[in-house]
Amino acid sequence: MTSVQELIRDAADRESREARTPAHRRPIALRSTGASSCDAGLAEDPWVIDRQAGYGPGSSAADVIPGDAPTQGPLPTRYTDADEETLHDWIVAAKAELGERVRILGHFYQRDEIVRYADFVGDSFMLAQAATRHPEAETFVFCGVHFMAETADILSGPTQSVVLPNLAAGCSMADMATIDQVEGCWRELCAVLGDGPDADGRQPVIPVTYMNSSAAIKAFCGRNGGIVCTSSNARTVLDWAFARGRRVVFFPDQHLGRNTAKAMGVAESDMPLWRPHLLNGGNTVEQLRDAKVILWNGFCSVHKRFTVEQIERARAEYPGVRVIVHPECPAPVVEAADGAGSTEYIRKQIEAASPGDVIAVGTEINLVNRLQGEHPELTVFCLDPVVCPCSTMYRIHPAYLAWTLESLVAGAVPNRIAVASTVATDARVALERMLAARP
Ligand code: SF4
Repeated sequence: MTSVQELIRDAADRESREARTPAHRRPIALRSTGASSCDAGLAEDPWVIDRQAGYGPGSSAADVIPGDAPTQGPLPTRYTDADEETLHDWIVAAKAELGERVRILGHFYQRDEIVRYADFVGDSFMLAQAATRHPEAETFVFCGVHFMAETADILSGPTQSVVLPNLAAGCSMADMATIDQVEGCWRELCAVLGDGPDADGRQPVIPVTYMNSSAAIKAFCGRNGGIVCTSSNARTVLDWAFARGRRVVFFPDQHLGRNTAKAMGVAESDMPLWRPHLLNGGNTVEQLRDAKVILWNGFCSVHKRFTVEQIERARAEYPGVRVIVHPECPAPVVEAADGAGSTEYIRKQIEAASPGDVIAVGTEINLVNRLQGEHPELTVFCLDPVVCPCSTMYRIHPAYLAWTLESLVAGAVPNRIAVASTVATDARVALERMLAARP
């Protein structure tokens, strides 16, 4: 257990480290709020973090990174030594030279220093769709994380390329389900539940994967009668799945699966957790036979930070506050909130609010701070009082963007994310089922 002395020492270390760090190197989230951060390493440059094993500082710091996770090679010192203004000038000049040949896609959770250059800003699926709508572009620079760049590559044209400015920008939740583990789970489920349709024509189990998963898992779902979902269409997708199967196995986010199924009336007792390192996921045969939704044991470390106590504190401090959270939060948090939905839902809720409204939000800090900046007529704040960005989104720093764009100007395509055509074909089947699914 951490002693009070250790906590005091950590806080002092962090303060002195932040004070020693030049302002242009400090994380934007910290500069904009003046609040304390969850991790002293957030004051480090990303190329320092990139040399260390793990997801880096921020929400996923304690998650276990797979041994084969992509790593980023060193950046030339031209970029690591440049200050913020110089990087800005290089990015603007390279973007102007590349023109419509290159489009920059920025996820809602990216730092403002990156979002300012994005041609399109959105959630992962909105950005993948933006890629399909721009056949004139030769290359998409995806300022997000690895699985998002894969989805953009699957949906974009065969001659278009997708690049990820920092290969170390993965997603700890997506990494919690590997294709080998998922195939092992499927074999065990088929052994227990059978692999053919029942008398009523329904399959024993339908695989459903959240968009936040590797292309290989999307392809697995495509091959096995399954489907992809996003946080905004998860209910429609589960309805689709229950029309075709007696059960669902939901990868990799247990919270989105549980919150969606609970809202549809599925009892918690009918949603066993699948722990990939245990036989039958750690469940009895009866539990699996009785299950309605088998939940993979994955989670997002950003959204796991939100608690019911934070909501109670917000309600005590701001009577009348409206609390909205992302469905990747644990079920008790979603139940204690006034509303839950995707990042786009959260954004629309804030846009629809009336001047003077106070809104507490349970999602990634960069999006919350940006929404407050865009709506000075409202009070918008993050439920979590500690600034703790998504560790992996945080890896995309302007230095990587400048390097990527200048490489493209020079005719090179750095950090290309290319999904093998066999995988892409099957993954596209699961994505197309999602697009065709209707409530
Ligand atoms: S916020 Fe969570 S789910 Fe999204 S990229 Fe970061 S770790 Fe992955």
